[in-house]
Amino acid sequence: MAEHVVIIGSGPAGWTSAIYTARANLCPIVFEGAITEENRQVGTLPLGQLALTTEVENFPGFPKGDLSHYLRSALDEENHYLADMHHGEGCSGPELMHLMRKQAKNFGTRIETDDIVKVDFSKRPFVLHSASGQRIEAQSVIIATGARANYLGLPSEDLYKNRGVSACAVCDGALPRFRNKPLVVVGGGDSAVEEADYLSKFGSVVYMIHRRDQLRASKIMADRAIANPKIDIQWNTEVDEVIGDDATGVKGVRLKSTTGDGKTIDLDATGMFVAIGHTPNTRFLEGHLEMTSKKYLKWTVPFRTNTSVEGVFAAGDVADDYYRQAITAAGSGCMAAIDAERWLASQGL
Ligand code: FAD
Ligand code: NAP
Repeated sequence: MAEHVVIIGSGPAGWTSAIYTARANLCPIVFEGAITEENRQVGTLPLGQLALTTEVENFPGFPKGDLSHYLRSALDEENHYLADMHHGEGCSGPELMHLMRKQAKNFGTRIETDDIVKVDFSKRPFVLHSASGQRIEAQSVIIATGARANYLGLPSEDLYKNRGVSACAVCDGALPRFRNKPLVVVGGGDSAVEEADYLSKFGSVVYMIHRRDQLRASKIMADRAIANPKIDIQWNTEVDEVIGDDATGVKGVRLKSTTGDGKTIDLDATGMFVAIGHTPNTRFLEGHLEMTSKKYLKWTVPFRTNTSVEGVFAAGDVADDYYRQAITAAGSGCMAAIDAERWLASQGL
């Protein structure tokens, strides 16, 4: 029998959709993604982007305080380690995501730790195929697959991935190779500032490489970077080459001026952290749903989460290249759940 609603993705949008559809007795099933080395490398392991960060200071409901007792009582025993690691700073990204997942599960959401790799939206019920070979029929689908980190695309960057090149400071920053050594962060947005700030606890100096003379980051984050004595912003520069060798991995970067004066400089560094934005996880949907030029899913009805296929809804960063926040992803997850519920009712399903 076809499922009422299948939710693909496991960030704030996916879990919020699950909480709402579960409470509406639609018995949702969430495909949260697979635990694979490939997903680890590109940053699409289950629980989404917030699982890759530290404190989340702007998700309402978690003022600074010690959540450790609550975490221990709310989460399954296997996740109690989060309470032991709690720093009393409010809620961290991984904590928040485990809480959302547990809340969805408490209302009866079924969870598959598997990737959806192929869809057929040409007829109803829709058909989904997973990486492990499952075939699922669904009356409605909510896509909440989020986004993944971009890389610069330099051959030298590719050569040193996992040997000094990373897109996740929180995942890799504490490794011995980065301690008390100069490090590089590429980008000028909130993520780059957050990465640089975090890495400044480990590195001797953190060079932020930004291609313009002004940060894109929000004012509060930009001020944080400028005020941090261990962050050195290299304005109007871009990475031309990652310098290294087989034995040591990354040893530095060659920077090129973006002002057209042809200047280059070499900086010593044992790590380069890339924080230059994200690409939506929509490859498996190409040819099945309308997308923007940057491959974000198109919302086709104003103030609704409808996609170009009736019965398929989109929530979170996969359809949002503008707000890209946990709270907006959760909000549109709620909208998608209500849209799916009302659409199913209109179909008598
Ligand atoms: P995501 O969080 O992107 O999660 C989607 C997940 O779905 C993927 O990770 C993967 O596990 C799964 N998935 C993908 N494809 C498939 C598939 N084919 N099949 C099955 N599963 C799949 N926002 C804030 O509001 N506050 C912050 O402090 C903040 N800090 C951030 C720090 C960092 C380092 C980053 C990168 C982002 C930060 N953001 C923050 C932004 C925030 O994390 C995102 O806006 C939010 O996570 C988007 O949620 P989402 O539900 O759309 O999807
Ligand atoms: P972003 O805001 O899109 O910023 C990307 C940065 O990378 C920009 O500075 C951009 O430069 C630069 N860049 C892009 N491509 C490049 C290239 N090929 N070479 C060199 N530089 C390049 O992305 P983000 O910082 O990942 O943030 C994404 C969203 O998550 C935002 O909405 C952000 O607010 C949110 N977020 C929030 C927090 C927080 O609130 N604490 C933390 C992290 C992220 P230009 O500026 O020149 O375009």
